[in-house]
Amino acid sequence: MKIIQYPNPILRQKCEKIKNPTDSAIQQLILDMIKTMRANDGAGLAAPQVGKNIQLCVMEVDNEIFTLINPEIKNLSGKDLFIEEGCLSFPGKFLPIKRCEKIKVKAYDNSGKKQIIRARGLLARVFQHEIDHLNGELFIDKAVEYK
Ligand code: ZN
Repeated sequence: MKIIQYPNPILRQKCEKIKNPTDSAIQQLILDMIKTMRANDGAGLAAPQVGKNIQLCVMEVDNEIFTLINPEIKNLSGKDLFIEEGCLSFPGKFLPIKRCEKIKVKAYDNSGKKQIIRARGLLARVFQHEIDHLNGELFIDKAVEYK
């Protein structure tokens, strides 16, 4: 799939909730997004980045794949960490971004099962970055706060 680049306004839309996570079109989209993320060496990809205005993102950290559907952040905790981040919609751009060390997220997984995931470190950072995409928020917004 083609990845949408900033400043395309699609990246600023708030995404709609997915009504049926097990729908075959959604299942195919998840597979296509994982393939696209890997082909572009990304740690994560959100549906608006491939032109879909729905609450879905995929991530791969330490060879483990995560699919989040309709994710809700339940808690952010731990230290604030500034680490350089990139985004597939901003080729070649890397900025130090402040993120929380730990996150607790409620979401549906790719089988439509509701789950609570706790993550820390890099995975927590990727979760925060991708969930921001579903709200039309981009890492450059947080970089401004840093300055
Ligand atoms: Zn991104």
